[in-house]
Amino acid sequence: MTDLEIAKKTEMKHISIIANKLGLESDEIEMYGKYKAKIPLSKIDITKSKKSNLILVTAISPTPAGEGKTTMSIGLSEGLNQLGKQSVVVLREPSLGPVFGIKGGATGGGYSQVVPMEDINLHFTGDFGAIEKAHNLLSAIIDNNIQSKTNSLGIDPRTVAWKRVMDMNDRSLRNIIIGLGGTGSGVPRETGFDITAASEIMAILCLSDDLGDLKKRLGNIFIGYTHERTPVYARDLKVEGAMAALLKDAVKPNLVQTLEGNPAIIHGGPFANIAQGTNSVIATRMGMTLGEYTVTEAGFGADLGAEKFLDIKCQSAGLTPKAVVITTTIRALKYHGGMDLKSLTEPNVTALTKGLPNLEKHLENIKQFGLTPVIAINRFMTDHDDEIAIIKDFAKRNNIRVALAEVWEKGGKGALELAQHVVDIVEEVSSNFKPLYSWDLDVKSKIEMIATKIYGADGVEYSGLANKNLKTITNLGLDHLPVCIAKTQKSLSDNPALLGRPKGFIITIREIEIAAGAGFLVPISGDMMRMPGLPAHPASENINIDNEGNITGLF
Ligand code: ADP
Ligand code: MG
Repeated sequence: MTDLEIAKKTEMKHISIIANKLGLESDEIEMYGKYKAKIPLSKIDITKSKKSNLILVTAISPTPAGEGKTTMSIGLSEGLNQLGKQSVVVLREPSLGPVFGIKGGATGGGYSQVVPMEDINLHFTGDFGAIEKAHNLLSAIIDNNIQSKTNSLGIDPRTVAWKRVMDMNDRSLRNIIIGLGGTGSGVPRETGFDITAASEIMAILCLSDDLGDLKKRLGNIFIGYTHERTPVYARDLKVEGAMAALLKDAVKPNLVQTLEGNPAIIHGGPFANIAQGTNSVIATRMGMTLGEYTVTEAGFGADLGAEKFLDIKCQSAGLTPKAVVITTTIRALKYHGGMDLKSLTEPNVTALTKGLPNLEKHLENIKQFGLTPVIAINRFMTDHDDEIAIIKDFAKRNNIRVALAEVWEKGGKGALELAQHVVDIVEEVSSNFKPLYSWDLDVKSKIEMIATKIYGADGVEYSGLANKNLKTITNLGLDHLPVCIAKTQKSLSDNPALLGRPKGFIITIREIEIAAGAGFLVPISGDMMRMPGLPAHPASENINIDNEGNITGLF
């Protein structure tokens, strides 16, 4: 059965019943039909939220298919509920780009899914649309100001880095010229489109505490310079109020349900490379206010998603996780041990053993934050018992908790061992969480700390452009911001070809972007894609809807 077929077979409960499980009456939520609702921000209680047990789900360095973090997060939350712990899973919203592209949706898989998956994967409650509108409002206001004779800030069009966004993989919009058609149609300049998930507004929405903080961050967006080299921010265009107004509903987290009828909060979907790659602070706090356990996911491998979660999101919002689940697959470890992507389903204990150092490094990294990891082996049908035994042996030798998790095949029942480990860590181990670095350090020290301690690099090299960017950052007084390093997820290094646990490498920082509104700097190693393209045979070829409105082909 496909994921969509499994999802459709389950009888969904009315969303008011799910809200009841969180202690909310039906008139306390804002319903979007029978199965979706938004929860008002007034329900957040910071003091109460601090009592919840926050569990982070991350992974080893992934294969291109993803290692099942979302599926694992959902399954773990089901398992915790089966153990009698009131748990809520808090996740990101899917972007339409991957839905129609290669990777597919982001609502879990098999018997660990959130529903209604067609809705969540297609528009959902319109949050992405609102973010897109707020982003493009600023774009329109910038070009209008450049055009205006009576209300001009004197913006130098060549310094404007702010683009437009659209939630679609469309490579032909990456680089465009706007303003053609004569004096009445704007000032010609080169710009382009990014995908909505890559918008700074998405990163801002996901780090904001409330509407006031959202507005302040929107105002802080750095746009470029005037001809006199004065920096220009969104607030100089008096646009942050209108942008925040467009986001009035998008800022509220969405409530849906898991296949086993447990609550799931889904909100925000920033990129995991050029942004923080995790759901909104608001959603996490809402989950923590309403649930005894809050299970959440951070994008890509632990070197990227978890590091940013712990150093940026947790420091920004004052969150302290209690345990970290490292999603591990036998196929990814074999890939790190040198096996070809196409043959990963064949048994190969030699390659598996050779790939283990990748897992080892991610475990060490979690411990560097003072946190206790547990290995969750995400079981695939093609895994062999002797391969599973090798990971269990490795865990035993290193004194790390490990569980075989069959969440895809069995839902919460397949996560009971993992859920019990998580409960044990929460109840028995005191969390000594400390972020890797203090935001007060200078920018280079922050980057070097992550590169050497988390990636395992010998050092960092900066291009001429990166050094120039550092001067700009100092001139703008933004040295105190945390760093959100954009790096390939395929390797612990910045070279996708170096698998396993690479040693003796240098990280090269090509450029450092400023996300002053979101409140971080983005040191970039390698080329970062902000507007993906579609494959020759996009997933959209398989998606259909019949006369009764039944959708097929989503995955
Ligand atoms: P991530 O969050 O790490 O990107 P997902 O949980 O979205 O990964 O899973 C990626 C894809 O792999 C999904 O299509 C999911 O259904 C599938 N998948 C995950 N775990 C399993 C498993 N154990 N067996 C088969 N397919 C799986
Ligand atoms: Mg995911």
